[in-house]
Amino acid sequence: MKKGMNRNNGRAEDKRLMLGLLILLLVTVLAAAGIFISMLVKQNPIFAAISVLILSVFATAVVLFILVTLSSIVMVYSGKENAKIAGRVAKKSLDIMLNPVLGIGRLVGLDTERIQRAYAGINNRVVYSNKPDLSTEDILILLPHCIQNSKCRHRLNEDIRNCAGCGKCSVSDMVELAGRLGVKVKMVPGGTLARKTVAEVKPKAIVAVACERDLCSGIRDTSFIPVIGILNERPYGPCRDTKVDVKKVEDAVKFLCNRR
Ligand code: SF4
Repeated sequence: MKKGMNRNNGRAEDKRLMLGLLILLLVTVLAAAGIFISMLVKQNPIFAAISVLILSVFATAVVLFILVTLSSIVMVYSGKENAKIAGRVAKKSLDIMLNPVLGIGRLVGLDTERIQRAYAGINNRVVYSNKPDLSTEDILILLPHCIQNSKCRHRLNEDIRNCAGCGKCSVSDMVELAGRLGVKVKMVPGGTLARKTVAEVKPKAIVAVACERDLCSGIRDTSFIPVIGILNERPYGPCRDTKVDVKKVEDAVKFLCNRR
């Protein structure tokens, strides 16, 4: 792992979890197709033949798709030269596979947040496998509303610089960081406004701070832009007085600007 990288940049355990779930999905698809085909064969032979053909084509397409996803993730983690294309394939296919993977994960009793963390980690790995060299003004830091101290009355949604800098929450540090590095920073209360903000600002890369669920949906929504996801810390539970490791945000911005 390169020095200064965000800790959640797709650790080996993220890869193992995702590969395990994809293989489980593959086996499930094959088993379901096999059972269904054997049931059909016992019915009307012509109807069965047509159904088997259609089902076989569908099952083969799904199996191939899962295999492509599996191999592209393995290639991203191999660190080889061609990892850039593999990264794009891994990202696109994982975006499509995420819901079935979450479904099969729930079925075997896995924690949904753990799978979402693995997805965000693999996404980060894909971003980190490239060598971006962006200007700081092309980078947008997106912060969740819950990072603001719940007793603070300053209105930050329009402009985060309305923060008075009292230091009772991470917002003042983020304002200082954004000013020092020259990046844009916005606070958004939810996914809809996050999408609107991205459409207005038109960044070339995003550093997003959020919980597992919001990171997942945000990364999928902005699949055309590289997003480095950083999990927030929730010492008081979800959605209240959350915190962010400012150093991780700074490292992510510096990586995107090739300033590490
Ligand atoms: S640091 Fe800024 S946002 Fe946080 S409590 Fe103080 S004034 Fe409010």
